[in-house]
Amino acid sequence: MAKRDYYEVLGVSRDASEDEIKKAYRRLARKYHPDVNKSEGAEELFKEINEAYAVLSDAERRAQYDQFGHAAFEGGGGPGGFGDFGFGFEDLGDIFSDFFFGGAFGSRAAQRPRRGADIHYDMTISFEEAAFGLETKVEVPRTVICERCHGNKAEPGTPIKNCPECHGTGQMRYVQTTPFGQMATTRTCTRCGGEGKVYETACRECQGAGTVRRTSRFEVKIPAGIADGQYVRLAGKGEAGYRGGPPGDLLIMVRVRPHEFFRREGSNVLCEVPISFVQAALGDEIEVPTLDGSEKVRVPEGTQTGKVIRLRGKGIPDVRGYGRGDQLVTLRVVTPTKLNARQKELLREFAKESGDEVQEQTKSFFERMKDAWR
Ligand SMILES: [Zn+2]
Ligand SMILES: [Zn+2]
Repeated sequence: MAKRDYYEVLGVSRDASEDEIKKAYRRLARKYHPDVNKSEGAEELFKEINEAYAVLSDAERRAQYDQFGHAAFEGGGGPGGFGDFGFGFEDLGDIFSDFFFGGAFGSRAAQRPRRGADIHYDMTISFEEAAFGLETKVEVPRTVICERCHGNKAEPGTPIKNCPECHGTGQMRYVQTTPFGQMATTRTCTRCGGEGKVYETACRECQGAGTVRRTSRFEVKIPAGIADGQYVRLAGKGEAGYRGGPPGDLLIMVRVRPHEFFRREGSNVLCEVPISFVQAALGDEIEVPTLDGSEKVRVPEGTQTGKVIRLRGKGIPDVRGYGRGDQLVTLRVVTPTKLNARQKELLREFAKESGDEVQEQTKSFFERMKDAWR
């Protein structure tokens, strides 16, 4: 059977707004939900409605559908297939929670304890701090359980009673006459929000919210060897949970400032050091900056530009504590640009003196190039 056009399924025009699509979906899903509608074909229709909504409610999928039609999502459950839509129970619970008939989904979801949200925090540190670790403090505004009422929302010393509306069950039962017969449904009690308890006097500190905003200070240990973009997680230091659920986490995203000389590659530190052509030719001892201060490095006689010297154990410590990387020093031979008359004269003399040697080297180079062309 050919698939119906998704816009047709939801009964909206092709240029319908997100809001129009959502409204149309809710109206239809309410009408054809299998808990409500027992007529033949309702379940199939309900599935079709959900499928259409999963595509049209997502800007990216909708654009694909507009361009390619159903073909955009065919191909046997591969990426983009319906199986990947992730349209699970949680999403349905969310959508159905405000349905009049939505009983089972809505009320259970509303009463469950829920974990608080994670807080994301960006911290910028220096290259050296990332290499050797850092102990610091952060100040984070967040929601915490109210200290005055301990989260039970009533002013201390005042009574908390069973909700008179739902008699402490947190749920209301409705009997409704519908075209399909008598339907008994339950939904979350609106008076107590499904908690079954109500207070007489709201807590003075939180005005009955049970939570308050506070700025918390935490000690943070950034481990040695952390890389740009890695997280440090402080468990339980996020936003307060709901209905007794645990708090979320504080996630500190570490940003490492670039260094003037050093670059990082895994656990190795890379740097470039300029040397003069005289140093390169005759050899020398030079000072090289490292994470541990400057280090004396021997430049061998006849060094070519691009030569890499490895300083073992001078790199970045492994973040799990498995030793340290190396520092790789690339030597760059700098050709002099401002020569006086005497220097030029000396170089000409030098060229004459080493004429044969230089020519031989150039000759053999061109011969090797010719070989490569053949
Ligand atoms: Zn309070
Ligand atoms: Zn109630």
